[in-house]
Amino acid sequence: MDNVTQFLNYIDGKWLACGSGSTFENRNPADQDDLLGHFQASSAEDAQQAIAAAEKAFPAWRDTPISKRAKILNQAADYLVEHIEQFAEELTREEGKLLANSRDEIARSAQTLRFYAVEGQTITGETFPQDDAKMMVYTQREPLGVATIITPWNFPISIPARKIAPALITGNTVVFKPSSDAPLIAYRLAEALHHAGVPTGVFNFITGSASAIGEEITAAPAVRAISFTGSTAAGERIHRTASMATRTQMELGGKNPLIVLDDADIDTAVDLTIKGGFSLTGQACTGTSRVLIARSIKAEYLERLVARVKELQIGNGLDKGTQIGPLATRQQLDTVLGYIETGKREATHVHGGERLSGGDYDKGFYVSPAIFSDVTQEMRIAQEEIFGPVVAVIEIDGYDDAIAKANDTPYGLSAALATRNIEYIQRFPLDIQAGTVKVNRTTTGNLVNAPFGGLKQSSTSTFRESGRAGLDFFTQTKTVYVGR
Ligand code: NAP
Repeated sequence: MDNVTQFLNYIDGKWLACGSGSTFENRNPADQDDLLGHFQASSAEDAQQAIAAAEKAFPAWRDTPISKRAKILNQAADYLVEHIEQFAEELTREEGKLLANSRDEIARSAQTLRFYAVEGQTITGETFPQDDAKMMVYTQREPLGVATIITPWNFPISIPARKIAPALITGNTVVFKPSSDAPLIAYRLAEALHHAGVPTGVFNFITGSASAIGEEITAAPAVRAISFTGSTAAGERIHRTASMATRTQMELGGKNPLIVLDDADIDTAVDLTIKGGFSLTGQACTGTSRVLIARSIKAEYLERLVARVKELQIGNGLDKGTQIGPLATRQQLDTVLGYIETGKREATHVHGGERLSGGDYDKGFYVSPAIFSDVTQEMRIAQEEIFGPVVAVIEIDGYDDAIAKANDTPYGLSAALATRNIEYIQRFPLDIQAGTVKVNRTTTGNLVNAPFGGLKQSSTSTFRESGRAGLDFFTQTKTVYVGR
């Protein structure tokens, strides 16, 4: 083998190679010659070891003082911040996003760990008045047990952080499987928790494909919670096969609309489209993939949008001046190019969508941002999640038509409205089928301290993650009657 680093699993407090000795490569989507490392291609036996370690560690961790659990999260946050420059560069090299976005993501992950270190200490129960003076009746919140955390490649440290931190602070033990397409920054999170002194078996990190270890870490009887973020297809599968005794939280795909009414400022609408649809190369679950715009301003909007998009610098996320990075994987590239071809057949192709080539472009997965117009509801590019820099522009005749069209997809993750009309601003949150509702802001972005999740096929609706709501999923309530 070459002398590129081999990254190990972290199971039962030990850094371990997988039983089979097989590994897989992690390469830079901006430059396929850049090999970041070899990761463990774990199999069922490795996964069983991780689950067994988490199960064994649970009783002692549940009884560990909350201040000690909080200290570990805070120290892990410190470790991320101390290494932010190195880790941000690694994140850009493995996922392709801009260096500034990588720095933000690592800082946000540290902020998340710190948020839960505090917020986890404020969990309360209730007491209930009743007739028996010699009895107390109250609820207490308890951890569930072993929690499996499965995450995608697009926010490969901030999504894990917002699941792992609430799981650990509430006393659950964790088995964490990151995406095989971005395992390095996830490994750094494991390293941070190890450095912070997380006790043996409390947190376990295992790499490998879903087909090799997915079932083992989701269907094992010891698993009491699964928090998953990824595609709707995978989430549905996991949700359906999980045991009745396992609580599931699925954060899935989106087809997020930006509605632009005829009173909106056109430059603002262009800004919201570019930031929401094309930053992060369109690879955000809350990315703007549909713009529903008033007929009267559509032509002017398209003209200004195309002019702005032509100016965007597409390149390696490590380079100063780059505004759009590559797609994250070859599979992403193929999928997005496929949808661009579909768009050309279905709708009016306005701009972009070329696979870029020549010079450094030949080493990576570069596509120019694509804009389609005259898109109608039945078209695939109006209905299916593309997860790339592709925006479908749909004409609307007023607010009610916009709401009907915006709601007419299986998804309901995020939605935005651009207008100054106070009546529509007030009606929008109730009318729109989305878990995240924005007015005069992009569909993308959410706060660490606010709940996040979707409706319809974008989420299981029972629990939200992020913010204080993130603690609910990882705790169960018991009602206690104590007499004397
Ligand atoms: P994906 O293909 O569904 O994979 C996500 C993770 O699940 C990976 O770690 C994958 O493993 C694993 N996985 C897939 N099938 C599994 C199974 N049957 N059992 C256990 N694990 C399984 O999604 P992706 O391509 O990484 O991410 C893009 C998707 O994530 C988009 O649909 C996007 O909308 C969604 N997303 C949603 C949110 C949200 O909060 N709603 C946020 C970000 C992204 P391997 O790939 O390693 O095999």
